[in-house]
Amino acid sequence: MNCPACGSTEPVDKITDELLEYCDQSLTLHSMKCSFCLVCGEGQWDEESYRRYTEAQAAIIQGVKGKDFPSP
Ligand SMILES: [Zn+2]
Repeated sequence: MNCPACGSTEPVDKITDELLEYCDQSLTLHSMKCSFCLVCGEGQWDEESYRRYTEAQAAIIQGVKGKDFPSP
């Protein structure tokens, strides 16, 4: 897969832990797969990791909002 930012064919796959922080909440996503460009430093999650990332982000925001604005 080419890098979407610079078109380089250099991206390498990387497994990493991603820390999500929002207000006083934090959450670590383990074994996140990402394609990381050695040329420009652009990183891109793979499909499954990106889905987990967005879900976790939504959950963490929901958690903070739920606490600040309790629904009746
Ligand atoms: Zn690049």
